[in-house]
Amino acid sequence: MASTDVLTGLMNRRGFIAETQARLADNLQGVVLIVDADHFKRINDTFGHAVGDICLRAVADRLRDVTTSQDVVARIGGEEFGIFVRRESLAIPALGQALCAVIPVRHHAATDPLQLTLSAGAAVTLQGETLEQAMRRADEALYCAKQAGRAKLVTWVADHVACSQPRPDPLFNPVAG
Ligand code: GH3
Ligand code: MG
Ligand code: MG
Repeated sequence: MASTDVLTGLMNRRGFIAETQARLADNLQGVVLIVDADHFKRINDTFGHAVGDICLRAVADRLRDVTTSQDVVARIGGEEFGIFVRRESLAIPALGQALCAVIPVRHHAATDPLQLTLSAGAAVTLQGETLEQAMRRADEALYCAKQAGRAKLVTWVADHVACSQPRPDPLFNPVAG
């Protein structure tokens, strides 16, 4: 189970890197997404760590719902997830919509379900680049999604300027929120 995340049952970071690298070695281009739960510290602080863990399982369920068995889906860090999909870039906005729609999480600490959201950054893999480089670009796009108000997917595009403005930039194609 060296490549499995015990809390969610998804692959862990190590599994994600091994599986995705294997696909890239076969010259299979695709899209790398880095997904991060929004305001997760606040959820832990407000409702407790156990509720946070319930949320992480709900995030894993969302990721399973929007992917297929052909895709690589993993929990790569605390409240951070990685996805590798072989879809054309045209399909990314719809994937972003499905991924970043509000996740209602029922738990014992409140009567109303908690409204959990995700932000995501996507990068289409480029010929000759390493997975690490693609993940770094996806991470830059994720940063822009956070800056642009969260609960959305942003795709890294060439010639972009570092996103420092706290407003959506049309270059980044925000698709939700
Ligand atoms: P942002 O929207 O900018 O991503 O804000 P954030 O609060 O989600 O980000 P931050 O990095 O400040 O906090 C992440 C939190 O995730 C802090 C950490 O305690 C929590 N976390 C990490 N791993 C786990 C875990 O396994 N279980 C629970 N319950 N919380 C976790
Ligand atoms: Mg994070
Ligand atoms: Mg977060």
